[in-house]
Amino acid sequence: MPYICPMRFDIISVLPDLLTSPFAHSILQRAQTKGIAEIVVHNLRDYATNKQKSVDDYPYGGGSGMVMSIPPFAACIEKLKCERSYDEVIFMSPDGETLNQTIANGLSIKKNIIILCGHYKGIDQRIRDIYVTREISIGDYVLSGGELPAAVLVDAVTRLIPGVLNDETSALSDSFQGELLDAPIYTRPADWQGHRVPDVLLSGHEAKINEWRHEEALKRTQQRRPDLLK
Ligand code: SAH
Repeated sequence: MPYICPMRFDIISVLPDLLTSPFAHSILQRAQTKGIAEIVVHNLRDYATNKQKSVDDYPYGGGSGMVMSIPPFAACIEKLKCERSYDEVIFMSPDGETLNQTIANGLSIKKNIIILCGHYKGIDQRIRDIYVTREISIGDYVLSGGELPAAVLVDAVTRLIPGVLNDETSALSDSFQGELLDAPIYTRPADWQGHRVPDVLLSGHEAKINEWRHEEALKRTQQRRPDLLK
């Protein structure tokens, strides 16, 4: 087996425990065990220099909510950048570009990525100006911290790295990978209290099954997401 250099994610967070479980199971865990992805979570507080180990401060100009300050983020990012070069420094932020499959595909061919998780009111604008190369939102709503968004991003990207999924074609037929949503899926029993699996799926006729799946995917896309059909 040729050595594959793993794709590396360095996530900087003030609540690293929030990121333990999402990466310790299923496909994300397998990606790491196989050496295809490396996910490292850094505790921002370890980079705080003051006695209280604080990472936030009051906002200039007044107003509600604390602001995450520059020095701990700068120290952590600078240290990481000494160790390797990074393709992107991503800040998870509700005002960033909205995550979609195209963005995930693009990131899945990168090598090293830093992800910053905000909290409270957000982070000092100068961190964004100086270090951040890309800002990504996971949708038009506001969460209390960037950890869940970071986990969503890392999951969406990691499953696309070649070799992570056992059956790689399963990612190709997923919704948003092409312009169609995924077709309906069924498993045993073939009859559940009179609700039957479509006969064609039991026919064993591969061409007919593929045709049926395509038609159903098209129907579903027309009904739910006509905007995807060009
Ligand atoms: N004041 C900010 C929201 C701060 S929420 C604003 O109105 O834009 C605190 C942190 O949670 C953010 O800095 C960000 O890192 C994260 N966050 C919240 N909602 C998010 C979303 N939809 N996508 C990505 N990150 C989000």
